[in-house]
Amino acid sequence: MSSGRSFRSLHVSQHPAVLHKLALLRNEAVEPKKFRELVREISWLVGYEALADARLQPIRVSTPIEETDGFKLADRIGLVPILRAGLGMVDAMLELMPTAQVWHLGLFRDERTLRPVEYYNKLPDSATVDLCLILDPMLATGGSATAAIEVLKKWGAVQPVRIKLVNLIAAPEGVRAVEAAHPDVDIYTASLDRELNERGYIMPGLGDAGDRQFGTGRSD
Ligand code: URA
Repeated sequence: MSSGRSFRSLHVSQHPAVLHKLALLRNEAVEPKKFRELVREISWLVGYEALADARLQPIRVSTPIEETDGFKLADRIGLVPILRAGLGMVDAMLELMPTAQVWHLGLFRDERTLRPVEYYNKLPDSATVDLCLILDPMLATGGSATAAIEVLKKWGAVQPVRIKLVNLIAAPEGVRAVEAAHPDVDIYTASLDRELNERGYIMPGLGDAGDRQFGTGRSD
């Protein structure tokens, strides 16, 4: 797997805990319950890295002994899970940022045009956050990610509101597409894989992240 240094906007986790869990996640023998646990655990670790530059506000805090300096998060954070596979990443991110707002965004690929089509949108009427994290385990062609970023930008999440993409596995094709269309969006992932196959699956990847979380797809 590549370190992703050739992409300006890409941050590939090098943390041993992420790499260990990622190999378990890829394993086709892992059943949905364990797969969901791993999605949650890796999302927590990659999300932690994605939030490293969140802004802070200094505060005073009283310990049982004395008063001291502390910090509280100054950024209002919006989580945007892309249905349905992004749902498995939400709980981990809410553990990290309990006050984050969650807006669901449903996109499917029109098989005729191959363009993402929005079918569900729970964004508030106007921008209410400083930092949006788009959650999707797989960055494959970049079609959904690019469409989601466009939705957020139209809705009002333009500068100074920042947008980041949090994935578990990215393909070079998807990173290239997002970088070309939205050079202002940073991408955080546990792995940069080799390439897409002819059906748009990431290789080596992990298969269909939605099916593997929710036990759909294979009947055997
Ligand atoms: N979506 C998935 O779930 N898996 C892939 O490999 C590509 C897109």
